[in-house]
This record gives sequence, structure tokens and C-alpha cells, in this order.
Amino acid sequence: MKKIINNFSFKIGYFSFSIGFTAWMFIASNLINLKKFSIWFNFKNQLDYLGLIAFFILAYSLFLIFFLLICHKKTIKFVAILLSILSTITVYFINKYDASIDRTMIMNALYTDKSEVKSLLSFQMLPFVIFYSLIPLLIILRTTIIFPKKYFLKSLKIIFIALAVSISLGFLKYNSIHLATNLSRKKIIYSIVPTNYIRSSFSVVNHTLIKPYFSNKAKNIIVEGSISKVEDLIVVLAIGETSRQKNFSLYGYDKNTNPLLSQDKKIIALNGKARIGSTLYALPEILVKNDIPLTAITSKLGIETSCFVNYSLYDNCAIPGEIKVENCKHKNQCYDEDTIPHLQKSLDEYKQGFRFVVLHLGGGSHGPSYHERYPPEFQKFTPICRDADVINKCTPQELYNTFDNTILYVDYVVENIIKTLDKSKKNYVFFYLSDHGESLLEDGRIFHGMPPGIDLPEEQAKIPLLIKSSIPISIKKQHEYTQPEIYDTILNLFNIETPVADRQKNFINKKTDK
Ligand SMILES: [Zn+2]
Repeated sequence: MKKIINNFSFKIGYFSFSIGFTAWMFIASNLINLKKFSIWFNFKNQLDYLGLIAFFILAYSLFLIFFLLICHKKTIKFVAILLSILSTITVYFINKYDASIDRTMIMNALYTDKSEVKSLLSFQMLPFVIFYSLIPLLIILRTTIIFPKKYFLKSLKIIFIALAVSISLGFLKYNSIHLATNLSRKKIIYSIVPTNYIRSSFSVVNHTLIKPYFSNKAKNIIVEGSISKVEDLIVVLAIGETSRQKNFSLYGYDKNTNPLLSQDKKIIALNGKARIGSTLYALPEILVKNDIPLTAITSKLGIETSCFVNYSLYDNCAIPGEIKVENCKHKNQCYDEDTIPHLQKSLDEYKQGFRFVVLHLGGGSHGPSYHERYPPEFQKFTPICRDADVINKCTPQELYNTFDNTILYVDYVVENIIKTLDKSKKNYVFFYLSDHGESLLEDGRIFHGMPPGIDLPEEQAKIPLLIKSSIPISIKKQHEYTQPEIYDTILNLFNIETPVADRQKNFINKKTDK
């Protein structure tokens, strides 16, 4: 036996090994779940096989880049063996438990104690261990990998090609991959081995080390500026999610989705414009300029500032910190209206001076499960779509009805915020705008987001921007109002003089302003 093993040995070049090993691991780990992936690329009973192939090639290219970057003479065998073991575990858990390998899963794995691990393992794992770990381990140990001269320079060429392929496919098949990502609720990303656990491990490092470091740095931010004159004024900025002008009757939609707001003649509906179709990057468009969050400026200059959120503003309200909704009105589920009691409390405590309240209405109209964004009593437009697979399982009419119900609920929430402000009899200026809009099958597009450098289509770019003020104001007439202009306008309302401010971008003047 020993002799057989000793005779069993290979010599192989570095590039052949790298490409051969990564390709084998990628194919062997994902072929077993091919059916699952193809379901997510099935649109109207037709398999989008070009989209599926593009997704696989893209994920493989990223894996290859990672492998080439970390594999050198002293690390290559160790990395290959480690990847084999991790892939074995991952493939097994995806197969047996339909697990999603995301950040929380990696965190759980890191903090799971030994007894829990034992209960998860079973003899069923044995074929996986043999096929994905033992055989590769034997081959790797008996292989001599020959590194050519200047191998790293040469591998940079492959990295460059793989990168070019990934970017090109990302652009060319963006719609297919974006759609499958949304319909699967990101599960395609969490299921593709080993890209899933590599990506999630980076995410763990980012969340436990990098983000806290930058968050601490953000808290120590130095704000230059001053308030030229303190007045009694509360500015409320309500940031919505995925709601678009096209379905607001205030903007001319033929269904009555704004029965409450349309009765308030003092509400001004402006032509709001979003630039980015992703919440993560759209929120800083409104709240951050030159790396300085608006709430950091107001807080540091002594204005009582609060952020009450349903979901999260991410790090855009690190100062003063966000307060999440809890003990919500509807049992087991929080909705955007649960931010209002926090606003009420803030108003009750208010005595005088400036105050800034940011409300994050983060449920808004976010898909694909639009019907989960509003309480049942707002299900006015029917029949609705109850499936996340809005394309295959619902008609366009059901999709529209469900989205319209979310707008009906936005109408209720925004109107109630305004009512709360009106009842308080305090001086206020209120803003409501959405982070971006949504495509609902226009030109075959669905959900939100476009590849970098490509403008948002109209239905994603045109967002509602509603203003109401209890003090006399004048609004600069413009064809459209962009999100960053909100930042400068709020600085102006608070009479803040700071190098970050751009007076040209302010579009609201108090009538008392000179
Ligand atoms: Zn969003």
C-alpha cells in the first residue's frame, strides 16, 4: 500500500495546478446544486442559460483571482487543503440543510461550541468527506508544484484577464444576475461555493474589525462651523425606501394612492431625483458630503439631533447614533409608522432652539415581498402578489397592486408624521424623499440598481420629494431637486456656516432670511 502511494505522485506547473484545482473545486461543489441555481434563472418557464453561465463564470473568475493572489510557494498546498476542507463542510450543509453561507452563518460557526458541532455532523457526511476532502488531500500531498520564474508577474496577467471577464459579464448580463439575486433574496450569492464563504469571511472581518475602526474614527470627526443665529425650528427629514413618483397620485398616477396627503393643500410635491439605485450608496447621497455626515455637523454644533429608524441608516448616523423601532404596534412585526411615537416623544420634550430629527422609513416599498411592507389593513388594491418570485408567480397587475398598497401605506405614514408635527404647534420644516425608485417591468427591468456608471432609468431616478413647513418659506424653482441638495438646504435652515456648505445648492429660504 505504502509503495502504491509512493509511486502515486505528480509533477505539475503552478498555473496548470491553480486553474485545474480551482476549476475542479468550483465545478464539483456547484454541479450538485445546479438544479437550484437554474430555478433562480428561470423566467416565465424559460431558462436564461446565458445568464446562468455568466453568473458561474463570474463567480469562478473571482475565486481564481483570490486563489492566485494568496497562493505562493509556501502557501499553495496549505490553502488548497484548507479550501478543500471548507468546501466539504459548505457543500454538505447547503445540501443537507439548504444553508445560506452568509456573514451570520460564519459568525455562528465561529462561536458554535463543540457539542453543537457534534450534533450537526453525521455519517451522511462521509461521502462528502471522501470526495471533497480525502481524495483532493491525497492528490495535493503527492503533487510537486513547479513554480516558473517570475510566476507572480505572469499570474497578474491571468488576474487581469479574469477581472476583465468578470467586469464584462457583470455589465453584459447585469439584468439576469441582478434579477436572480433579488428573486432568490441573495441566496445565489450565499450558495455558490467557495465564493460564498470567501466573501462572507471578508464580510466578517469587515464587520468586526474594519467597520468599528472607521466608525470610531467617524465619531471623532472634527466639524468646522458655527450657527450664525439660533431660532426655534424643528427640521424633520423622513427618508423613504424604493418609493417612486410614478405610483403617487400626488404626481399624477391615476389610482388614488395618496388619499390622505392629497387633501393637505400645504404639501409641496417637488420633482426629486435619485442618482444611485442601491440603499447602501443612496443614503450617503442624502446624508453625507465630503465624508462628513449631516447629523455629525448638527450634533457637534449643539443641535439636538436624533435618528429613529425602521431598518438601518447604516453608518450615516453614527453621531449621534440611531435608535431602532421596538415594541411595535403590530405584534411581531415593525412597520414604518413605529418611528412616529419616537418623533412624538422628541416633540413633547422640545422646548426651544433648533432640533433635527431623521426618520428612516426603511420598509417603504422595498421588494420583492412588497406585501410585507404594510400592515394587512392597507391591502386595498387586490389581487396581490404574495410570492418573492414576482415574475413567474404573479401577474403584472398583481405586482402593481401590491406596490400600490405600499404607496398607500407611505401616504398614511407620511400624513401621520405631518399630523403629529401640526398638532405639536411647533415651528417645523418637513421633508420626505425616497432613496431611489423602482423598476416594475418597464423595459423588462425589475427592482432597483444599475451597473456603475450607467444612469438610473426614469422609474428609479424620479423619486417623491414632499415638503411641508409651518413657517413661511420660499422654494427656489428648479426642474429637478437632487438628493445632495437636501444636505445644503438643511444646513441653511439651521443657519450653519461651514466650509462643507454650498449655498448655491440650497433650495429653501425662510422668509425671514435676507
Ligand atoms: Zn433603497
